[in-house]
Amino acid sequence: MSETQQPGILVLSGPAGSGKTTVVNRLLSVSPAKLMKCISATTRPPRPEEVNSSDYYFLSTEEFEQRRERGEFLECAEVHKSGNWYGTLKSEIERARNENAWAFLEIDVEGALNVMQAYPQAVTIFLTTPNPDDYERRLRERNTESEEVIQKRLQTAREELKHADRYRFCIVNDELARTIDEINDILKSEEDVS
Ligand code: 5GP
Repeated sequence: MSETQQPGILVLSGPAGSGKTTVVNRLLSVSPAKLMKCISATTRPPRPEEVNSSDYYFLSTEEFEQRRERGEFLECAEVHKSGNWYGTLKSEIERARNENAWAFLEIDVEGALNVMQAYPQAVTIFLTTPNPDDYERRLRERNTESEEVIQKRLQTAREELKHADRYRFCIVNDELARTIDEINDILKSEEDVS
């Protein structure tokens, strides 16, 4: 990467149960590229272990709506037909720029498609599992969601898979170490050409 160039935007999506969170956390700790995870805003209530301004910015529906009207979001979407809104604040992209780091977004497909329109040069990666049944098994193993929520997430997973080919890269997450290597290689070659 030349001195005047800045790292860009890295988007990672994948259905619930694709192992996304593990990949995100591992990348943040081992990637040679400088990554800054953008903290999303959401109207979803926090889970017991979640911390405001670290896992998410937890906003009331009213505040989310006001900030949306003020144009503060790069993208936002109602995810999993849950009634809950999620969005990437433009200020998070700015924060990454100021740190000279990749703005690392873990967002759903709808959000990713919007980011692709605004930033066609964004590095977009879709994560899948080798076997479609893995999504359901991993979701159930997590044991944090009700049956109704699981069914909605499986439905969303089926929908999301249809858009995998819109991403610049599609990675089958069958082995964590290999997935991480592949993503690091992608980032390195992007940094080399820019
Ligand atoms: P969870 O409620 O399990 O934390 O996240 C549910 C889904 O919301 C995940 O699929 C995640 O990718 C998506 N998500 C998280 N943050 C954002 C965001 O800022 N924008 C969009 N469009 N989706 C998000």
